[in-house]
Amino acid sequence: MRRKTSEQAMPFCPFCRAGIAKPQRSDMPLRQFPSGSCRCGAVYVSDLTGKNGGEALLESLALACNEDEGRAWSLRDGEDYVLRIMSYDTRKHLFNKRGHFKDGMARLYFVKLTSSE
Ligand SMILES: [Zn+2]
Repeated sequence: MRRKTSEQAMPFCPFCRAGIAKPQRSDMPLRQFPSGSCRCGAVYVSDLTGKNGGEALLESLALACNEDEGRAWSLRDGEDYVLRIMSYDTRKHLFNKRGHFKDGMARLYFVKLTSSE
């Protein structure tokens, strides 16, 4: 096993490759995950433990639909939106390059609606 120090990278949007800001806690009462949005229209939600994938995905879909949850529920993966999941180090605000989803490691859920392209 080789160990390298360069296994982390500055976080970027997987759709347009722009650097992204650290996810922020929302003021919305129903939001439990920190989130953010990219200038290309993609949104992202940080699942801090890596164990709340379903909820994190639903939150990112709701966010992508401007909180229109009825519409968010009707979206279909690969048809109405594209999902990318990245392994994320919340303390350093870095991606883990090798994409290993270790227990306890946060994930960033990126969602982009295909209709917005
Ligand atoms: Zn983007």
